[in-house]
Amino acid sequence: MDQNLSRSALLRGQWRSAKPPRRPPWALVDEAAFAAACTPSCGGRCVEACPENILTLARDGRPQIQFKRGECTFCAACVDICPSGALTRQGDTEPWSLTARIAETCLSIAGVTCRSCGDACGEDAIGFQLGLNGTARPTVDGETCTGCGACVRPCPVDAITMQAPVPAEEHAA
Ligand code: SF4
Ligand code: SF4
Repeated sequence: MDQNLSRSALLRGQWRSAKPPRRPPWALVDEAAFAAACTPSCGGRCVEACPENILTLARDGRPQIQFKRGECTFCAACVDICPSGALTRQGDTEPWSLTARIAETCLSIAGVTCRSCGDACGEDAIGFQLGLNGTARPTVDGETCTGCGACVRPCPVDAITMQAPVPAEEHAA
């Protein structure tokens, strides 16, 4: 068990729900496989290689991506420098299955004029459905969205997160 978990966190059962950090693009999808391949002794070469400066070392000494710092351009510099195969790309494999998700705290849903995310999206993946009283609900086209995260930082109320699709069995749960 993680020695860093506090007693109070254990009592609240938080260890059950602890999620691993969001890993860089083209990371091994299975977290256990990623953790086995990515050795903290590498020193985070991918972190240093990222020209967008959006990779940092997580508490476990392995890389995480932080969209609040900027967007991923999918340049693959992080993959190219990774010596272990924890980040690996074969052919035209997709970097990940992430897409943008916009929470109900969105200003536009509340009727405040804001199109910051739509303006930031280079893929035109975000549309707005006009409603009553000046409201406009943003919608993300999951087919077009690349999960680049460019829409995250411009949002003034931090309403946007990058999420993987929820498996069908979890929908049914
Ligand atoms: S693909 Fe490029 S921009 Fe994206 S995390 Fe890797 S190095 Fe950074
Ligand atoms: S993650 Fe990128 S492609 Fe997807 S909606 Fe945001 S800016 Fe557009």
